[in-house]
Amino acid sequence: MPKAIHSIWWDDVLGPSVGRSYPETETLSGEEAMIVFMGHGVNRESEIGYSKLPRGLIISYMKPPNCIAILLSEGDNTPTIERNLLRLIKYIDFNSDNWDAEIQRAFELLNELIDETSGAELLTNPGVKKLFDDMSNKRIQVITPKHVLRASVRYPNVHDYLGLDDDEVVRMLKDLEDENILESRTFGRRVECRQCGESDLTIELLCPRCDSNDIHKVYTLFCPKCSNQFHAVLVDDIAEVTCQNCKQPIKVGDLAVLDVEPLCNKCGTASNDPRIVFRCATCGKHLRGADLLAGTGLAYYLKK
Ligand SMILES: [Zn+2]
Ligand SMILES: [Zn+2]
Ligand SMILES: [Zn+2]
Repeated sequence: MPKAIHSIWWDDVLGPSVGRSYPETETLSGEEAMIVFMGHGVNRESEIGYSKLPRGLIISYMKPPNCIAILLSEGDNTPTIERNLLRLIKYIDFNSDNWDAEIQRAFELLNELIDETSGAELLTNPGVKKLFDDMSNKRIQVITPKHVLRASVRYPNVHDYLGLDDDEVVRMLKDLEDENILESRTFGRRVECRQCGESDLTIELLCPRCDSNDIHKVYTLFCPKCSNQFHAVLVDDIAEVTCQNCKQPIKVGDLAVLDVEPLCNKCGTASNDPRIVFRCATCGKHLRGADLLAGTGLAYYLKK
C-alpha cells in the first residue's frame, strides 16, 4: 500500500507550491515538488509522471495547474498504483475549498480502490465473477480488442465545469446553445463518415505495389532482459516471444517496438511506406478525403 499522497499546485511566479499531504507527517519539500513536476516533461505535457526521490518512488498525475503525487512503499507494484491513481482522479474535487479533508479522503479512497481491484476482493466483484464463469464454461472463448481510433471531439478546458464525460460535455454545450447562452462557430475540420455520421475509424495497411492487405510485419524489438535489439514477426495468439540474443522469453505485454517493416505476402515488396486506408469503424465505409475533412469542428462563444 502507498505511503502517502500529496497535492501540489503550479504557480507561474513561484513554481510548484506544496499543497497538502496525507498522512501529515509525510511532508514534501519544495525541491521534491520540483522534481515531481519535472517528471511530467518540461512543458508538463505528460499526464502521468514518475520520479525517484530518496524517500521512494513517486507516481503523479498532472492536471494543470494541479498535481496529485503518490509516494510508494517498498514492494508496491507500480503499474497497479498507476492504474488506481487514474481511477482515483475522477473522485477528487480539484476545486475543493477544504483540501485537508479532500486529500485524506483521496488517500483512503485510493487504498479502497487498490483493495477492490486486487487479490480475493477482485474475484468477489459480480461482473468479474460472471466473466470468469462464462470463460470457464467456454461461453466466451477470448476477449478480443476492437482497434478503433477515436476521432472524437473533446473540450478539456471545460472539464472542471461540466465534468469529465466528453460525450456529456458536448451535449451540455449544445443545450447551452439551444438556450441562447452560447453560440457555436467553426473551428477546424473533423472526421465524419458521410454514410453514417460516426467519427470512429480503423486503419488498414495495403501493399503500395499490389494493393494486397495480406501484409506481414517484421518488428524490431527491444529486449528488456539483455537490452539488445532483435527482429521478430508478431502473429496473433502468442503470449511470449524469445529474444534472439539472450534466448529468454518476454511477455508480449512488455515488448517495446522500435520499428516495423511491412512485407507483402503476395508480391514480396518490403516497404516502410505502405498504402494507408481509413475505414469507418461503424459502417465499414472506405473514408475518403471528404469524410476525413468535411465535418465541422465547433468552438463555443458566449452569445452576445
Ligand atoms: Zn534478450
Ligand atoms: Zn504486394
Ligand atoms: Zn460510417
